Amino acid sequence: MNKKNIDKIIQLKKKYNAIILAHNYQLPEVQDIADFLGDSLDLAIKATKTDCDNIVFCGVDFMAQSAKILNPDKNVIHPDIEAECPMANTVNTVELLKLKKDNPDAEVVSYINTTIETKAISDICCTSANGVKVVESLHSKKIIFVPDKNLGNYIQRNAKDKELIIWPGVCPTHHRIRKEEILDLKKIHPDAEILVHPECRPEVIDISDFALSTNGMLNHVKKSDANEFIIGTEKELCYRLKNENNDKIFYPIKTAICPNMKKITFEKVLNSLETLEPKIEIPVELMKKAKIPLKKMMDIGRGD
Ligand code: SF4
Repeated sequence: MNKKNIDKIIQLKKKYNAIILAHNYQLPEVQDIADFLGDSLDLAIKATKTDCDNIVFCGVDFMAQSAKILNPDKNVIHPDIEAECPMANTVNTVELLKLKKDNPDAEVVSYINTTIETKAISDICCTSANGVKVVESLHSKKIIFVPDKNLGNYIQRNAKDKELIIWPGVCPTHHRIRKEEILDLKKIHPDAEILVHPECRPEVIDISDFALSTNGMLNHVKKSDANEFIIGTEKELCYRLKNENNDKIFYPIKTAICPNMKKITFEKVLNSLETLEPKIEIPVELMKKAKIPLKKMMDIGRGD
């Protein structure tokens, strides 16, 4: 990444009326050229507010697809179509339809980290920021929740009047974070607050000070009197945290890396802007069906 290539990106964005949206877990070299950084919900909202013709989406596939569903008339360009979320791929729609049939009184809540086919058969989507709020907003007592069992358990603990049937998927990156790693860091940095993501194991959430979405963490750090934080989520969030809170210290979990998020590089973003490819293409009918649960979620808004 050099000045010449950064200038090229600026010129191409202007030429094609393009915006770069990037998830908080993207590589620093991608975060540095993004027009807007955020979590899944933020990025989905931002995608509906831009008047740019081309959206270069730096994140995994379901995020770029959500941007396309919400902006069918715009070009959504995903710099590496192989950047997929393995957790989203754990849902088998045939099995999910069977689960729905076996539980006709249940509504299906799908985490935004799902494929478009899963969204198309869901009643409503949620993110880690608004999962509890979404579940509590529903009329049914019984909820089928896909695909993250850790987030499902977290929601169940906070929405006690609901009865969740939880899909057994996990995010490999967050599930890998062990309680012992956090406690070891806490021993070395006893004054640090422990912030973890609700995709972590329950025993990790139990020893944390706060379980928050990535944007929840960003907001919390700004307001907190603490100066040091142990960050229990994908480690690249610490890059943004440090950029925005230079006077504070962050201790990442070094093994918490999502290899799929890292597939998007500066060069691939530049190439996407030069070619306006690869574009996200989704059959219109599928897009219409998947838009319903996404829109319902967005009407509910953030919960953190
Ligand atoms: S961090 Fe986990 S949930 Fe997010 S994209 Fe990577 S594997 Fe999927």
